[in-house]
Amino acid sequence: MEQIASFFDTLDDLNELLSSPALRGKVARSRSVLAQVFVSSSGGSLAQAAAARVAALEGRVVVVGASTCGEICGGRARSASNVLSLLLFDAAELRAEAYAATPGSEAALAGRIAEGIARAGDAPLKGVLLLSTSGTVEAGALLRALHGRLPGLPLFGAGAGDGLEQGRTVVLCGTRTLEAGCIAVGLYGHALEVMRQTYLGWEPMGKRMRATRAAGCVMHTIDDQPAMEVYRHYLGIEGNDRLFHNAMEFPFLVEREGELLARVPHKALPDGAIEFIGDVREGEELRFGYANVDGILARARGTQAEVRAFAPQAILFYSCICRYFVMQKDVELELRPYEAMAPTAGFFTYGEFCDLGSSSPMMTSTLLVVALREGAGQSGVPQAPMAGAPAAALCESSHSRILSRFQHFVRAIAGDLERANDELLALAEHDALTGLVNRRKLQALLAAEALRARRHGDDFCVLLGDIDHFKHINDNFGHEAGDAVLRLVAHTLASQVRGVDTVCRWGGEEFVVLLPQTHLEEAMQCAERLRRCVEALYDEGDSPLPRRVTLSLGVAAYPRHGDVQTPLLAAADKALYEAKHGGRNQVRAGQDA
Ligand code: GH3
Ligand code: MG
Ligand code: MG
Repeated sequence: MEQIASFFDTLDDLNELLSSPALRGKVARSRSVLAQVFVSSSGGSLAQAAAARVAALEGRVVVVGASTCGEICGGRARSASNVLSLLLFDAAELRAEAYAATPGSEAALAGRIAEGIARAGDAPLKGVLLLSTSGTVEAGALLRALHGRLPGLPLFGAGAGDGLEQGRTVVLCGTRTLEAGCIAVGLYGHALEVMRQTYLGWEPMGKRMRATRAAGCVMHTIDDQPAMEVYRHYLGIEGNDRLFHNAMEFPFLVEREGELLARVPHKALPDGAIEFIGDVREGEELRFGYANVDGILARARGTQAEVRAFAPQAILFYSCICRYFVMQKDVELELRPYEAMAPTAGFFTYGEFCDLGSSSPMMTSTLLVVALREGAGQSGVPQAPMAGAPAAALCESSHSRILSRFQHFVRAIAGDLERANDELLALAEHDALTGLVNRRKLQALLAAEALRARRHGDDFCVLLGDIDHFKHINDNFGHEAGDAVLRLVAHTLASQVRGVDTVCRWGGEEFVVLLPQTHLEEAMQCAERLRRCVEALYDEGDSPLPRRVTLSLGVAAYPRHGDVQTPLLAAADKALYEAKHGGRNQVRAGQDA
């Protein structure tokens, strides 16, 4: 097989191209020809006229096409141009069909596409090219339904563009142009091989957020705020009709089945919700994504090596328009190297379609590279890098370099802040002298435990311990010695409880121990053990303590001695008071509520 591809600006350019005797001869001699017309104008009339001229070629030509957000040919990117790609097959057969869509008809469409593809000739199906209009077809739903019908379908393609006018997108098949629908082309052949490679290259940045209300392609709230508020707050982007243009470089990244997917805002809705290109799911974790150009180019090199090893005869690109926007002319750095492997053609899209094995999600912001080969017999033989391929592409334009530095800066600052935040949080929750959690944290844990226990009908207990006659230690041995005693007692208590228990320095020489899922009897035993351990710290011979130290403890059980947190601790405090009055160095249980 072979690919002949070229940009054309006008129909005259196209006529000149098609009048080449060499081209006409090749087309006539081919077993089949897949002609693709990618047109920047979303009007459809140029697409139709171009398709008619291509269809008039003598030979077995199937013409399909799409309106675009920019075109790719010969490893170059352009906007406001057009591309003709002719895939000339030696033996492969093609079957193309157009399907008109109405709102909500995606599942039915998938059924018809699956049937059409299954009703093929003798040769095995090796690839399905799917082009759909954007906005008028919910591609995510279509892909899901199609994957449900034919799970192993080798799929590639994209959503048509509209020259960034947010207007009409069209797909075409033969002389038929659709403003709402899709076209599917089955590629069949024993010797035909179709390789699909896709990568994103966007990296997550900033805070983790959660989709708190979402359905279909509409995100209503993020962290319980209107979705638009998040774009306004973090990126200064307003919810007007420029949302897509302003936000496309900063999609949300979500992880699904191990794949990082980008979701690009498409439209702001009146109530602060955002409609995305592609589905969004309630409960999913979201982070803003940004394009690290050097990172993208590093990823690109890996894919280029795989495609080179495949020894392709033709390469198609479906690249998200975001890539063109972020990288601008540098977008060619990830496209150009392929031209040294085989002729390339493609377009900038509103969403890329590709089967990923376990699913066929609707992707955005990615580059999908489709490499084709027909019986070359060089399968798996890695080729040496060809002359002209840049060995290590680094972003070239000052735009990309400045962006890359800014991203580095933002990443460094975000890292600093995250670390500082972690440290502050640790300080806010812990006691400086003993390292135990403080009163504030324990109150939060207690409230959470009470909720949990109420929901599950569990018991839990609290112990309130107070060092006996601690004032004497301070008075007789000094404050420093008092501090050392506090640290030692804290360490002793912490080392004597389970991993699920929490020991807190409640204040002064008082400690609270929270024992989740514990009955009163077990808590009494635990308290008794703690009492004995503290008592045993003072060993006449070689003691770290200046004198004997003892602990009195009050025990309260939920829900027997108290319900919400304060009464429960009040019950423990009362029991502690009893222990003190009973002579200290003892454990007392609370009174039944
Ligand atoms: P009781 O057996 O009735 O509990 O007597 P006590 O002396 O332990 O109780 P009291 O409440 O009279 O004294 C507690 C002392 O603990 C008073 C206070 O100065 C001391 N204290 C509180 N916090 C610290 C601290 O961080 N370090 C030191 N060294 N002493 C502290
Ligand atoms: Mg006290
Ligand atoms: Mg005391």
